[in-house]
Amino acid sequence: MIPNFNYVRPTSLKGAVRQLQSPDARAHAGGTDLLSCLRDQVFGAEKIVSLRKLRELRGIWQTGDGGLRIGALTTITQTAEHPLVRERYPVLAQAAAEVASPQLRNQGTIGGNLCQKPRCWYYRGEFQCLRKGGRICYALHGENQFHCIFGGKGCFIVNPSDTAPALVALDAVVRIIGPNGKRSVAINNFYVGPAKDITRETVLEQGEIITDIILPAPPAGLRSSYRKVRGRQAWDFALAGVALALQFNGSKVTRARVVLSGAAPVPWRSKEVEKVITGRELDGRVIISAGRAAVDKARPLKKNAYKIGLFQGMIEEELEALAKI
Ligand SMILES: Cc1cc2nc3c(=O)[nH]c(=O)nc-3n(C[C@H](O)[C@H](O)[C@H](O)COP(=O)(O)OP(=O)(O)OC[C@H]3O[C@@H](n4cnc5c(N)ncnc54)[C@H](O)[C@@H]3O)c2cc1C
Ligand code: SF4
Repeated sequence: MIPNFNYVRPTSLKGAVRQLQSPDARAHAGGTDLLSCLRDQVFGAEKIVSLRKLRELRGIWQTGDGGLRIGALTTITQTAEHPLVRERYPVLAQAAAEVASPQLRNQGTIGGNLCQKPRCWYYRGEFQCLRKGGRICYALHGENQFHCIFGGKGCFIVNPSDTAPALVALDAVVRIIGPNGKRSVAINNFYVGPAKDITRETVLEQGEIITDIILPAPPAGLRSSYRKVRGRQAWDFALAGVALALQFNGSKVTRARVVLSGAAPVPWRSKEVEKVITGRELDGRVIISAGRAAVDKARPLKKNAYKIGLFQGMIEEELEALAKI
């Protein structure tokens, strides 16, 4: 059961920031994650602050320098279907189209997708684990088949978002407003891993709201894609995924962003793969080396070693596909 709370619907950003200043307040966008977190007692809230009347946070606009601005309240469907996103940033359109189910994509927003809580079943259940302020991680010696193979330290969640790795691959910037004014954070620095702070997932402070996401203009020769492998062809989170944004000069890769999902507590840049492919043509030898490099430093748990072969094969296939475009 969801505990009682007060519900407010401010009509200005300033009002929303003010309402969110109390420590027991939470922002409400589409509510698809927020309400299940309240129901499952992942966190409590005495006040829910709806962002839904803030029209300025809804929409997709071109920026003066040829990039895009995506308002945080833009739905995932609108993001996936927008002609400019599809044409210039296929990696984001494909990632958004892979999120959950049509109903959830119609209701869920891109801002909420970036801020959703992890899906570890102990965390979502009644277990007072390390991330919830308890003393142990139940997944470490428990049911860890969906947990991370990179970056786990004390806690072994995977970041659940499909759009986040795509946005990291595109070097997006997250714009934020809060009690201390506005700030912009490169999305690569937006997520916080457990080694730094096990109790949080992002750099957002109490009272801060994501207003929009800025995508830089796509550079010449950019080819991008998102591939997700899941347990079933219905709504499901990524067992393994990869967002690619590669710049080509002829058949040679001149700059690479390779970001894994379902792999680590944060969207995981595979600098090892980026290093192998940058400056090279994607021939069979390079692609096989890239697949190997992707998993070289993986540290699987007892029940998720299957992810190693999954990532390796998926990266080989996706690099091969992009090389042929
Ligand atoms: C059955 C199911 C399957 C799913 N499968 C997938 C999947 O395959 N891939 C995937 O990526 N996701 C998946 N999701 C997650 C889903 O995409 C998210 O629930 C959704 O994107 C959250 O958006 P929302 O607008 O509903 O956010 P809310 O539920 O309203 O908010 C989520 C969190 O973000 C905070 N928040 C929201 N907007 C802002 C903002 N602008 N500024 C600051 N904080 C904010 C809220 O306070 C809350 O903590 C699934 C969810 C469900 C229920
Ligand atoms: S993986 Fe993280 S969230 Fe899951 S039980 Fe361990 S500490 Fe908790």
